[in-house]
Amino acid sequence: MSGRLLPGATLGVMGGGQLGRMFVQSAQAMGYFTAVLDPDPTSPAGMVAHYHVQADYLDEQGLAQLMQRCAAITTEFENVPASALVTLGAHRPTAPGADAVEICQDRALEKAQFRRCEVPCAPHALIETLAQAEAVSPELLPGILKTARLGYDGKGQVGAADLAGLQAAWLALGSVPCVLEKRLPLHRELSVIIARDALDDVVHFPVQQNLHIDGILSVTQVPAPDVPAETQRQAIDAAGRIARSMGYVGVLCVEFFVLDDGSLVANEMAPRPHNSGHYSIDACDLSQFDLQVRTLAGLPLVAPRQHSAAVMLNLLGDLWFTSGDVARTPDWAGVLALPGVHLHLYGKANARKGRKMGHLTVTAADASQAMAVARQVAQRLGLPGL
Ligand code: ADP
Ligand code: MG
Repeated sequence: MSGRLLPGATLGVMGGGQLGRMFVQSAQAMGYFTAVLDPDPTSPAGMVAHYHVQADYLDEQGLAQLMQRCAAITTEFENVPASALVTLGAHRPTAPGADAVEICQDRALEKAQFRRCEVPCAPHALIETLAQAEAVSPELLPGILKTARLGYDGKGQVGAADLAGLQAAWLALGSVPCVLEKRLPLHRELSVIIARDALDDVVHFPVQQNLHIDGILSVTQVPAPDVPAETQRQAIDAAGRIARSMGYVGVLCVEFFVLDDGSLVANEMAPRPHNSGHYSIDACDLSQFDLQVRTLAGLPLVAPRQHSAAVMLNLLGDLWFTSGDVARTPDWAGVLALPGVHLHLYGKANARKGRKMGHLTVTAADASQAMAVARQVAQRLGLPGL
């Protein structure tokens, strides 16, 4: 990555989901033109970009079209095949690079990277055969078997109480390469988002405290109310070391667990902005998407400043149905009547249970006020978690 791309240039993104949409919106606000490659004709980002290349991620013509349009290319989706990023990277500045994305795509490589950086992670073993599942150390059980690749929002994971359960879990996941992790006593979950540029400048957002329900992010609170300052410092430091170790350029999120004994363990990372950072659009002077634009365009990196306390609530497709499964429209007017409510919907036509349809950030002068309004929002919409 070298050179500086000023507004007026065209920035491209691989993937047309909500993260791509918010990247596009941020780039457009700064005066960039934008292009999205995604096979779906109604993808959330494709619908708001200047150009939508409707093609598969490995389609050579599609990749060529994207390169023709764009001066630099980023990704919003870690499962973009690394080979597509290699092709793009040979002709255009591409951030993050294929090497780093490849590590983040594979739980085994990811954990090896954590270890290389001396960042603790869950005890684990690679399971690629039934024999390995039979011979696993009892120390790792009860555990969680996760597919090495392509898992998200708790999908591609099965609990394993004992050896018999582990074998059944491996077969249930399709006998693909998996990582067995010891089930840890989680006290809290948190995440750190950093941005790093090619000059090795690194900036970070404040630590986010996250609540997951059924493996899907439900609530993010910033500032993190229940994480000691020293633990926050350790997490920020670890995220920076991990980014540097990969020569990473772009926005990177690292998820952590705080265990019952107070120790910090890295869980996984995402080579892109992250759902837990969406609050930064409304509660910080620079959002995670603004920093993605800056790192891609080679513009100066400046530390973001949080100006309001924030609680972010994810809006899943479940909200579009009554308890009796009848379709409904959530009471948007009801929640927009509350102070400091910022509604973000991703333009997805079909609501399905568990599908991320949007999010809502409550900003306030302090954390307790933000939480008080968030509770009212949750009550009016019928959201779980608060
Ligand atoms: P995904 O890619 O689906 O986000 P994660 O590995 O982050 O997968 O797991 C999803 C959630 O499952 C975590 O946020 C956490 O709540 C729980 N979880 C994952 N791994 C463990 C573990 N080793 N011990 C206890 N809980 C876990
Ligand atoms: Mg996760």
